[in-house]
Amino acid sequence: MTVLSLLGLAAAVYAHPQATRTSEATEAAISSTSSASLLPLPAFQKLTRKCVHTDPSTECQPYTYPPVAQAMSSFPDIWEYAAKILPGDAAGHTKYASFNASIPKIAPKGTLTDSTKGTTYSDSDPDCWWTYSNCVKPKLSGLVPDVSDVPEPRTLGYGFDDGPYCGHNVWYDYLSSQNQKATMFYIGSNVMSYPLEAQRAITDGHEICVHTWSHNYMTATSNEGAFAELWYSLKAIKLVTGVTATCWRPPYGDVDDRIRYIAAQLGLETILWKYDTDDGSEGSDGVTPAVVQKNYDDFITKASQGAFNTVGAILLTHELTNFTMQTSMDYHPKLLQVFDHIVPISVAQNKTTPYLETNYTMPTFAEYIAGTTQTNGSTPASGSSSASASASGSLPAQVNPGSPTANGAAQPSDSSPSPSSSSGERTGKNNGVVGRLQVGSATPLSVFGAAVLAFCWL
Ligand SMILES: [Zn+2]
Repeated sequence: MTVLSLLGLAAAVYAHPQATRTSEATEAAISSTSSASLLPLPAFQKLTRKCVHTDPSTECQPYTYPPVAQAMSSFPDIWEYAAKILPGDAAGHTKYASFNASIPKIAPKGTLTDSTKGTTYSDSDPDCWWTYSNCVKPKLSGLVPDVSDVPEPRTLGYGFDDGPYCGHNVWYDYLSSQNQKATMFYIGSNVMSYPLEAQRAITDGHEICVHTWSHNYMTATSNEGAFAELWYSLKAIKLVTGVTATCWRPPYGDVDDRIRYIAAQLGLETILWKYDTDDGSEGSDGVTPAVVQKNYDDFITKASQGAFNTVGAILLTHELTNFTMQTSMDYHPKLLQVFDHIVPISVAQNKTTPYLETNYTMPTFAEYIAGTTQTNGSTPASGSSSASASASGSLPAQVNPGSPTANGAAQPSDSSPSPSSSSGERTGKNNGVVGRLQVGSATPLSVFGAAVLAFCWL
């Protein structure tokens, strides 16, 4: 394909920026080009798999979702580091002021793109810095341990980072076909970009946790920046789905006691992992599909040898690219062979009210393994004044951007043994290009973004 024809395709996409979907149901019903797009990747797809999952002319086409479009001015810029609480955000300022003075005096580390860069740090690991030591037991009193495994034996706490992703329908369809629920760690910017896709997680009965606003290294953020990264992610999820998350996962696992403390003030339990497929790094840093497959295989071997007979596991995987979702589908049957149960992390914790909105419930572990994998998961919380939705997929009617969306709810008690080795999450903003298309916002599809989409069609 010539450059001219490429630009022509870009222009065609740019001239066709609005999709017709109006609800979660209509978005979820968009069929992918075919399941063939998920078959083993041809060589050329090396160039495309970071773009979109299936057909960008349909599933990833920008659309306007009025509640998001109307609220954009109350949020940081999409995919930009949320360095500050916005001036008009009275609830945010009030909440931050309520604990600002008590934030641990731990200096930010490194840079936003690498918290280890230029950082000198004591071997004694005074901050329980996971990136340095895989520490999950805070040194600071009053903080509960991070969750890095699940209490139920022979059980996999199933979770995926970096969504929602505009091209995820085939994969969500697969999970539904298997009656398989999972924990989705959503990036706030992606939630604003793909609100109907985020709603599908609730409709399908998955659990949603926070994965920050801009996916930077959190121990590098300022105190206010760390707060804003979590606060606006919580607000985005609340705006779009009607629920307020009580769990989060730090990008790259980068957390220390300062960040844990700030997250705890927002009622967020810190969820890590002990085993890493490295799927999000596929295509970079020498991580080939074979490397990822070996990581999965090694994990499965451990499970088959009884490594999780006493305490279950959490494995790091991603909703990020065609490859990560395809590989998760490839390995789901294999994981089912070696684990007695694969459940969302909240289910493994018997945390039946995973959101502040207590009228929303998830099944108990016993219920889930008996076959009731979804209780009222298709009905996002309606008790809140700011948003509601119905089982048919109708949308939250309106939102009050200034209303508090999180508070300092007590953290559930949890304990985790010391971690074994883990290479950490290395995914970056691979999906940020698509995220920058800002579907549902007033920002039009960028020419650059259109060119990327057109490139995906090659
Ligand atoms: Zn991530």
